Amino acid sequence: MRQKIVAGNWKMNNTIEEGQKLTSEIVDLVKNEVTDDVSIIIAPSFIHLSTTIGLLEGVSNIALSSQNCSENESGAFTGEVSVNMLNSIGVEYVIIGHSERREYNHETNEQLTKKVDTVLKHGLTPIFCCGETLATREGGNHFEYVCNQLTESLFHLSEDDFKKVVIAYEPIWAIGTGVTASSDQAQEMHAALRSHLATKYGKEIADNTSILYGGSCKPDNAKELFACADVDGGLIGGASLKSRDFVDIAKSF
Ligand code: PEP
Repeated sequence: MRQKIVAGNWKMNNTIEEGQKLTSEIVDLVKNEVTDDVSIIIAPSFIHLSTTIGLLEGVSNIALSSQNCSENESGAFTGEVSVNMLNSIGVEYVIIGHSERREYNHETNEQLTKKVDTVLKHGLTPIFCCGETLATREGGNHFEYVCNQLTESLFHLSEDDFKKVVIAYEPIWAIGTGVTASSDQAQEMHAALRSHLATKYGKEIADNTSILYGGSCKPDNAKELFACADVDGGLIGGASLKSRDFVDIAKSF
């Protein structure tokens, strides 16, 4: 059975103090209000990871993610962070291929393939982001475009490795804009992605893959989005910076 997941991508926000306060608030609210069948993931920037992990001790349904990693194992890559380093402090997930990294850091599907491989090799779980621009959607090629992102970066994986991947569909036109995909738009893309996964990995694996929606997801629209048959939760940006909003989203299944 696929997992229900709500993941918070803090992006480049919060000092250490602010991050600790936010994490502690989330922990308290999750303990009291969120059922154990929902997995919560917090993805702060690298600098927060070591302190955040300490605050998650004994909390079974909150895990830690980084927002990126190097595709390389170790060595002369100034400014990069390896998966081995992330693993050594207890990070369990890595967001791979967020549209902001694809755009500002020019990450290609080919590079993302290597990142996915490195993450899986070290036993962490990739949260693989995909999504189209408004121009691509208006051109009518959005299904083909997003399916192709999965084909190019994931379809080299064995069945056993693919089973460990979480997918996040994030239409770029909805990220940080306040414009959310309608539940119909989200559902039709998620269903298309699931069918595409089934062509490669079979129906059973496709049905068991968690596909999250991301893009201006808020407490007031999460219920409708999460009610869609193929939406298994959310990757949350702006609203993950407010503990009350983030936890209310996690309660929206
Ligand atoms: C994101 O960047 O992953 C995201 C979904 O952002 P927001 O929720 O702010 O649109």
